[in-house]
Amino acid sequence: MLTIGILAIQGAFIEHEKRLKGLKINTFEIRQLSDLTKDMDGLILPGGESTAMKRLLVDLGMFESLKRRIIEGLPTFGICAGLILLAEDIMHENPHFGLLHISLARNFYGRQKDSFKTIGDTENQKIPMTFIRAPKIMSIKKDVTPIAWYQGDIVGVKQNHILGTTFHPELDRSNVIYDIFIQMIKDKKNR
Ligand code: GLN
Repeated sequence: MLTIGILAIQGAFIEHEKRLKGLKINTFEIRQLSDLTKDMDGLILPGGESTAMKRLLVDLGMFESLKRRIIEGLPTFGICAGLILLAEDIMHENPHFGLLHISLARNFYGRQKDSFKTIGDTENQKIPMTFIRAPKIMSIKKDVTPIAWYQGDIVGVKQNHILGTTFHPELDRSNVIYDIFIQMIKDKKNR
């Protein structure tokens, strides 16, 4: 059975726990430094508020250890604020982990569209997508592969063992994005 650690200091972590349980995946909450020594096959950085999450990670003394785990190859899925934490370039701001080779603009969608549900594309099928004060991916480098699109914009990316979406797959029924992440974890384990 696979075990995924979910960063649980701020934001939308409970929804991921429920979804992964439904997919027969073990989860545990990462709340303090000692949780990072536990065995895990994958890591979820949930949506929330990236600046608050960053501050808490630093205050709790977890930031560098978490970054090291990701650099060492732990399969990692960042959602919205989690994706912002991973990004190499954030417009008008300093990056946080700075590991994923994308450039993004925070809170890109205007007020009326603060949050919205829509239908977007993945490689093989259309899926529901929920955006909440989402960032927009402005550009990607060559080693980054798009995996999801909304009206032609890239809204999901993969770079080696790192996956990220600007939308919240935990809030819709489709398992397509979770399946991609679980497959990444299995590929890594079998290597
Ligand atoms: N607007 C948030 C940020 O900039 C992200 C929103 C989300 O995670 N749903 O961190």
